[in-house]
Amino acid sequence: MPNIPIFKAHQVFYDMRIFILLIGWSLFISSCNSVQNEQQEELDLAILPLTQNLEYLEERYELPQRFKLYAKKELQPSLELLSDYLKDLGLEPELQNERPETALVILELNPEISDNPEAYELWIKDGKIRLVGATAQGLGWAIQSLRQLLLQQEMPYRLRGMEIKDAPKFAWRGLLLDCSRHFMEKDFVKRYIDLLALHKMNRLHWHLTEDQGWRIEIKQYPKLTEVGAWRDDGNGGKYGGFYTQEEIKEVVAYAEKRGVLVVPEIELPGHAQAALAAYPQHSCTGGPFEVETEWGVFKEIYCAGDDSTFIFLENILTEVLALFPSPYIHIGGDEVPKYRWENCPKCQNRIKTEGLQDEHELQSYFIQRIGDFLASKNRKLIGWDEILEGGLAEGAIVQSWRGFDGAKAAIKEGHPAIVSPTSHAYFDYGLNDIDLEKVYSFNPIPEGSSSEEAALVLGGECNMWSERAPQDKVDSKVFPRILAMAELLWSGPKKRSFSDFKTGVQTHYAILDKLEVNYGLETVPVTVKTALKEGQLFVHLLSADSNQTTFYRVNNSGKVRYSNPFKIDSSANLSIEFERKGKKYEEKVEQKIQAHLANGIRPKLSYEYHQNYSAGGPEGLTDGKLGSSNFKDGNWQGCWGDDMEVLVDLGESKTINYLESGFLQYNNAWIFFPQKVEYWGSEDGKNYEPLGVVKNQSNPKEKKQFRQAFQLELKSQKFRYIKMKAYTLGICPEWHDAAGSKAWLFMDELIII
Ligand SMILES: [Zn+2]
Repeated sequence: MPNIPIFKAHQVFYDMRIFILLIGWSLFISSCNSVQNEQQEELDLAILPLTQNLEYLEERYELPQRFKLYAKKELQPSLELLSDYLKDLGLEPELQNERPETALVILELNPEISDNPEAYELWIKDGKIRLVGATAQGLGWAIQSLRQLLLQQEMPYRLRGMEIKDAPKFAWRGLLLDCSRHFMEKDFVKRYIDLLALHKMNRLHWHLTEDQGWRIEIKQYPKLTEVGAWRDDGNGGKYGGFYTQEEIKEVVAYAEKRGVLVVPEIELPGHAQAALAAYPQHSCTGGPFEVETEWGVFKEIYCAGDDSTFIFLENILTEVLALFPSPYIHIGGDEVPKYRWENCPKCQNRIKTEGLQDEHELQSYFIQRIGDFLASKNRKLIGWDEILEGGLAEGAIVQSWRGFDGAKAAIKEGHPAIVSPTSHAYFDYGLNDIDLEKVYSFNPIPEGSSSEEAALVLGGECNMWSERAPQDKVDSKVFPRILAMAELLWSGPKKRSFSDFKTGVQTHYAILDKLEVNYGLETVPVTVKTALKEGQLFVHLLSADSNQTTFYRVNNSGKVRYSNPFKIDSSANLSIEFERKGKKYEEKVEQKIQAHLANGIRPKLSYEYHQNYSAGGPEGLTDGKLGSSNFKDGNWQGCWGDDMEVLVDLGESKTINYLESGFLQYNNAWIFFPQKVEYWGSEDGKNYEPLGVVKNQSNPKEKKQFRQAFQLELKSQKFRYIKMKAYTLGICPEWHDAAGSKAWLFMDELIII
C-alpha cells in the first residue's frame, strides 16, 4: 500500500482572511481579489520538461528561510543535494534523519508509485513538501522540479499547492560533449552535468578521444596524454589538455549524485590519430604522425591485422572501465576510411585467415573483438551506425547519426538504438539547419516501426561536436535547443505543443539567466531576402521575432535601424545586428550583396542540385546574395559529382562587360573548385559564341574554406543569353582522405554586369 494518502484539492476561503500558521511555514493569503490574481499569475511557474501530470491546489505558501529537511539515512546523498541547492537559493535548511513529522520537506522512496525507476511525485500540500521517488534517481527528478519552481523567483519564495506525478517517456536522454576537438575544463563539464540534471537529462556522452586530442590519462600508456593531448596551435605553441584519473573520478561521482550516467567514448578503429601520434606502432604504416590540427576524417587508423593493437586497446579499456561504472561503453566506430587496411599486408592477412569478405567485414571483426572484450567485463558496447556495416556485433547498441536508417536497421535486427540524427540533434550546426522548432519536431522512433521495434529505441541525444565551438561558445549552441530535446524525450510526443513549449521557454530564461547560461537564439534572427522593384535590387530583412529590433550597416558605414527595404546599387557588405527586449546578442549576420543584370531571373540548370544545399532553388544563383566561407549558409548550391551548366535569358539584348561565377573550396568536406569555367553568349538562344575559359588557379590541397571568383572581362559585347559551364574534378584525388569518392561543386551566383 502506498504510504502517501491522496487528498482531493480543498477550498481555501480567501475572503475569510484567516491566517493558518503551520509548523515552520505560513499559508500565503491575499487580502483582495486583484492582488490575488496578480499573485496567482506570479505563481504560474513552469517546469521544463513538461510534467506528465500536474494539478494545482488552492493553497498558497511562502517558504520560511529556515526549515527542516527529512530523509532516512540511506537517502543522505539526495538530502544533501537538495540542501545544497536550497542553500544556493539563500535558504537555511536543517537536515535530519529522524522525526519526519517535524520536517517541512520530506524525501522518501516508494517503489510502488510506478514501474518506471525514474518516476517521482512532488506534493505541495497540507503544509508539507513531499518528494517521492520510485528510486533514488526518480527522487532526484523531484528535487530538480522543486528547484526549478524556486529558481524562477527571488526570496521570499512562494509556492502554489500542487500534486505532480511524473515519469519520462524515454530512458536515454543525453548530451554528447566533444571535449577532444576543443578541451573543456573539468569544472565546465561538471557545470554541464548539473545543467543536464536540472532538465532531467540523464546521460553525459563524454567524447574523450579524437584525431585532434586524447583527453583521458591512461597510466600504462603515459604518452597518450604527454603527446596525444597536445596539438600545434598554429602560432608556434601547443593547444590541449586532459583529465587525470582523479579528475575523472570526481566528475563521475558528481554526476552520479545528480542521477546522470557518464558514458565514455573511446574512438576506434578510426579517429585515432592522436593516439597513433603517441604510439605509431599500432598503425598500419608505423608512422610517424602528428596530432591532427585540421577538422575532418583522416586515413590513419588502428591496424586491424596486428594483435598488439588489440592488447593495447584492451589495456586502455581496462583502465577506462575502472573509472566509469557505466554499464555502457561507447567505442565510436564511425568514419573509418579503409585505405590503410587495403594496403596493409597484416590487415590483408587477417582478412584471409578470418575468412572475411572485405575491409567492411574487417571493421566488423574489429568491433566484434572489442565487443567480446567488453562483454567479458559485463559492459555493453555502443557504436555509431557504421558498426552495422559488415554485420553487427552481438549485443551492441547502435547510435544512429546518419538519419534514422541506422536506428531502423538496428531495431529490425533486435538491437537497441539511440537516435541522434544530423537533421535534428547536431547542435554544432547553425540555426539555418536546426532551430528550436526543428529540434522540437524530433521523434526518435523511426517511422513505420512496430511496437516491438519502437520499444528498442532507448531515446536520443543532442550532439555537441566542438570543431567550431570552444568552451565559451558551447552555451549558445546548446541552449535553448537542449530544452526542446529534454522535453520531447521526457514528455513524449503526445503531450506536446510547440507554442506552449515556447511560452515555457520564455519563463525558463529567468532560470538560465540566474545560472549564467549564455544561451543563444531560438531561430535565425534575420532572413535576408532580395527582390527587384522597377529594375532595382532591394534588400528585405525579415525578423524572426516581433520583439526584435534589427540594425544594419552597409560597407562599414553608420549603424541604421531597419524599418523598410533598402536599395543596393552595386556591391555591398551588410552587417546585421539585433536586440530583443534589451538583450543584445553576440551573433551578427554578415551578407554580401551584388546587384547585376541577371537579378530576379530564374536560370535554367542542366544538373540536379542537392536538396540540402539548394540556395533556395535556381533563382538562388541570381538573387544577388553571395556565399560566405560556410557552405551551409544557405547561399550555396551544391552539386555532387556532376558538371554545372547554368543558362540565363536576360529577356532582351544587353551590353555586358563582366561575368563572374563564385565557387567554394573546402576539401575536408569534399568540396573542390571546378577545374575550369567556360562562358558563352548568344543573341538568339541557338547559336552560342565562346567568350572565354577561366581555369582554376588554386591548389586543391589548400586546406582552408574559401570562395574564388571565376571572372571574365568582356568588351561591351551585346547578348541576350549567357551560358556558363563549370567542370567538376569528378572524384576526390588520390592524396585525399576520401580518394575516389565523388567530389562536390558549390556555386553561389552567376554575376552578369
Ligand atoms: Zn594494418
